[in-house]
Amino acid sequence: ILEVKNLCKSFGETQVLNNINLKVNEGEFVAIMGQSGSGKSTMLYNISGMDRPTFGNVFLSGEDISKVDEDQLSSIRLNRMGFIFQHSYLLKNLSIRDNIVLPGFKSGKYSREEINKNAEAIMKKIGIISVANHDIKKVSGGQLQRAAICRALINQPDILFGDELTGSLNSSATKEVMDNINNINREGTTVIIVTHDAKVAARASRVIFIVDGSINDELVLGKYNGNEDHSFRDRKLTQWL
Ligand code: ATP
Ligand code: MG
Repeated sequence: ILEVKNLCKSFGETQVLNNINLKVNEGEFVAIMGQSGSGKSTMLYNISGMDRPTFGNVFLSGEDISKVDEDQLSSIRLNRMGFIFQHSYLLKNLSIRDNIVLPGFKSGKYSREEINKNAEAIMKKIGIISVANHDIKKVSGGQLQRAAICRALINQPDILFGDELTGSLNSSATKEVMDNINNINREGTTVIIVTHDAKVAARASRVIFIVDGSINDELVLGKYNGNEDHSFRDRKLTQWL
C-alpha cells in the first residue's frame, strides 16, 4: 500500500534522513524505533505527506504523493490517512463527539447521516461512547487518546499513523489504547507508528530500527493475536534491541 524509494530529507545543510527504502503491505502493522534524534518523526512526517522529502518518492497505492500539489495532498491525507500524536490535540471548546465528527464533515466523503452513524459505531468499539457528550476537559488521558483514535478513523482511512501515541499515558491506559490499535489493524487498517516503548512495538507485525537517519535493521514478529503471546514477543524484541 505504501512504497518509499530513496527518501532523503535535509533541513538546511543537515541531512536527517539518508536513502530510506521501505515497502508496507496492506494490513501490516509497522513500528519504527530508534534513539531520540535519529529521525523517526521526520520519517513518519515524510512518508505520510505531512512534509515533503528533499529527494525520493513516496507511493501510496501506486500514486507518487511526494509530487502531487498541496490541495490533492491534503485531500489524500484527510480521506485516506489518519494521524495520532503524543497529545490528542482535540479542540477544547467541543465535546468528544463533535471533535470526532469534524474531519468527517470536512472531507465530504460521507453524508451527515453516515458520519454520525460511523462516529457512534467507532466510539462504541473504542469504548468511549459513555463520554461522547463530555467536555474534553472532563475526561482522562486515556479517554482523550482514544477519542483521538476515533477522530483519526472517522473517514475510514487506509493507513493510520501514530507518533508516540502512548507517550503521555500510564501503562494501563497504554494497554487499552494499544488493544484498540491492534483491533483496528486486525480489521484491516494498515498501521505505522513511531515509539520508544518496546512493549508498544512488540504489538507490531514488523519493527524497523532507525540509526542516524537510516534503516539499520528490521525484525519480523508476525501478527499479534491477543494477550497470550505478548511476553514471548516482548522477549524476542528486547533480545533483538
Ligand atoms: P525523538 O525520539 O526525540 O522524537 P526523533 O527520532 O523523532 O526523536 P526527529 O524529530 O525526526 O527525531 O529529528 C531528527 C533530527 O532532525 C534532529 O536532529 C532534529 O533536530 C532535526 N529536525 C527535525 N525537524 C527539524 C526541522 N523542522 N528543522 C530543523 N531540524 C529538524
Ligand atoms: Mg520524534
